[in-house]
Amino acid sequence: MTKFIAISGKGGVGKTTIAINLASAMHNIGKNVILLDANTTTPHIALHLGFPELKVSLHEVLEGKNKVAEAIYLHPSGLKVIPSNISKNPFYKKTRKFSSVFLELIGKAAIVIVDLPATLSEETLSVIRATDETIVITNPEISSLTDALKTINTAEELGSVVPGIILNKAKRNKKIEGFKQLGEKLIGVIPEDKNIPASLSMRHPVIYSHPLSPASFEFKKLADFLS
Ligand code: ADP
Ligand code: MG
Repeated sequence: MTKFIAISGKGGVGKTTIAINLASAMHNIGKNVILLDANTTTPHIALHLGFPELKVSLHEVLEGKNKVAEAIYLHPSGLKVIPSNISKNPFYKKTRKFSSVFLELIGKAAIVIVDLPATLSEETLSVIRATDETIVITNPEISSLTDALKTINTAEELGSVVPGIILNKAKRNKKIEGFKQLGEKLIGVIPEDKNIPASLSMRHPVIYSHPLSPASFEFKKLADFLS
């Protein structure tokens, strides 16, 4: 079986960072993982992981030009990645549904971590519907907490199980307004960590470039918990 796990939340909360590092942490404990960039309008995984111009990406797979296996790339850390192409025009001719691409991926990995865009557009909803689970990311601020609650309800209505919420960019000793509502759903707290922007400029997951950093420690704990 292949489990599809979406990573959702408001813009800028750290979805892409968490998708990359969770996938990487799972890979490090021996899981057969693929990281997939389902943010086809403003994709960032190729940027974060340093993939240059892509001849074949998820876009070409969705256009029906290539098989999904042809869009799987290997990061130097060993992580398998299906990037979208940042230079692709948003009006590209999509001829396949995400659900059909996911079907083609069955058996190619045990876990597929799916990075989502911030907006709950029709396309995003169709991706969430095709996943088994949705992990919701929030920051310690009221607008992203509110969006997180909305996303939980939406994902559950679409039949995607929500294992919980990850609080990202947490600051020490800072009280969080509205946090009580999320309490029991909380499965991880990732601190604000300067090693994360440093790893981004190196085009590596932080758990690969800075394995002993505070954020890496939490990503490892999360990977153990979710496996
Ligand atoms: P999203 O995909 O939700 O839009 P990103 O993963 O691109 O968010 O993160 C937005 C910015 O925040 C990036 O510059 C990233 O390096 C930074 N960032 C994310 N998580 C952390 C963290 N825990 N500590 C410090 N910076 C972070
Ligand atoms: Mg992103």
